Parts: sequence; structure tokens; C-alpha cells
Amino acid sequence: GPPFRKVLARAASLRSSEGLVIVVHDITEMRRVEAMRRDFVANVSHELRTPVSVIRANTETVIDSAIEDPESARRFLEAVLRNAERLSRLISDLLDLSRIEAGEYALDVDATPVRALVHRSLEALEAQIEDRDIHAAIDVDPDIEVAADPRALEQVLLNLLDNAVKYTPTGGHVTVRAEGEGDEVRIEVLDDGPGIKPKHRARIFERFYRVDPGRSREMGGTGLGLSITKHLVEAMGGRIGVEPALPRGSLFFVILPAS
Ligand code: ADP
Repeated sequence: GPPFRKVLARAASLRSSEGLVIVVHDITEMRRVEAMRRDFVANVSHELRTPVSVIRANTETVIDSAIEDPESARRFLEAVLRNAERLSRLISDLLDLSRIEAGEYALDVDATPVRALVHRSLEALEAQIEDRDIHAAIDVDPDIEVAADPRALEQVLLNLLDNAVKYTPTGGHVTVRAEGEGDEVRIEVLDDGPGIKPKHRARIFERFYRVDPGRSREMGGTGLGLSITKHLVEAMGGRIGVEPALPRGSLFFVILPAS
């Protein structure tokens, strides 16, 4: 823990003797949780503010004048739509996060074949993969099974693959590998994009932490994907992390119990 502890102390003198009773509570953890909650509320408000002001300003412009000019009205309304979509992504990520944290995301752990889920997740990203001319490859033995909730694992894979595709430049490579390691399975999602510098590596799993906030927002990111992913993996008894890929790019790994 931190080198200094915050304590709350109360002293009371005893009626029967000269002594004092001092009760000391260590409130370090409580204060840390309070500070995190305050930060979170501030972050959420900040994230909501931008799309809401774009929606307001553009709607006003259309009502006031642009309605006479269909061409520019369309442009303003397209921005309204984009920002409304952004708000609904944010709200749905926030709801996921609070459900998982409250333990309300009922996990149904079962023998789950990895390859089929990887395949399905890549299919869901087909449009982006084609648009950006990404080379996607699956190197997973069809026999590999993990003890996991298939729906949660699919969301995990989808989030990692979505990031890999999103942050890798046009023409880049995205690969999924899986291998048994004793009674565990290590699933890896690799890309040959810009990678993540060491000082950011530990923090990207925090809510709203982004290496490049402008770029993430531009790409429609909420900054919550990896923290949801981490929660899901840990709820299934697994671990998640990131390493540099060689010669370049990122390697995200997920370790889950084998089935
Ligand atoms: P976002 O919605 O911003 O993508 P995430 O929680 O999914 O939020 O990711 C957090 C940050 O981690 C991103 O903003 C990005 O800076 C970084 N990141 C995630 N995946 C990759 C990747 N494959 N390559 C490079 N950077 C990544």
C-alpha cells in the first residue's frame, strides 16, 4: 500500500482512572475509494458534455438558419447523429461496467471453444477490416477450450480485436493465437500498429484512460473498453495484460482456465 496511512483517531478519557482510550481507524482505503468515485463522476460528466453541446449547437443552427439550405442542414444533422451515437455507446458501456461491478452480470461458465468465438468476433468486424485493408489471421487449434462464459469471452475478444483493427494503420496485420499452458490457456491478440509505450501500459486498463484522447474520441472510442474487458476476464478467474509485440505493435494476452 501507500507509504503513508490516513487515520481517524478518537480519544476519550476514562472516568475511573487517569487513562485515555484512543480508537484509531485506518481510513486510507475508504478515502482512496471516495477519491476514485469523485474522479469517475467528473470523468463521466466531462465525456457527456462534449457530445451534448455538439447536439445542442448543431440543432440550434439548423432551426435558426440551416433548415433553408438542405446541403448544410444535412452536414449539421450528420454531426448530431454521430454525437447521439457516441452518447449511446457511452451509456451502454457505463451500464455494462456498473452491472459487472455490482456482480449483476450473470456469468455462465462452460467449456467454450476459442476458435469459433475468434471467428465470430472477426466476422463482426469484417466491414472495418475490409475498409482498412487489414490482414487478419487466426492461429488457434480448433480443439482448444477454456472454462468461460461464451458471451463474456466474445465481448472480450471483440473489444481486443476492435482495438487492434482501430489502432493499426491501413494494410496492417492482426493475429489471434491461443496455446495451452498447463491447466490454463493463453490467448493472444497481436497487431503491428503503433504499440503502447511502457509508461501507458499499466494504465490503459483504467476507466477513461487513453494514450491519445483526441484520436480515441475521433474513432468513436469511449475509453471504457479495456476496463470492461479486464473486469470480465477477472470475473471468469482469468488475467489480462499487454506486452510489446515484435518487431512492433501490441500484444494483448488473456489467460483463462483450460476446460
Ligand atoms: P478506447 O475507446 O479509447 O479505444 P480502450 O479502453 O479500448 O478505449 O483503450 C484505451 C486506450 O488504450 C486507447 O485509447 C488507446 O490509446 C490504447 N490502445 C488500446 N488498444 C490498443 C492497440 N491495439 N494499439 C495501440 N493502442 C491501443
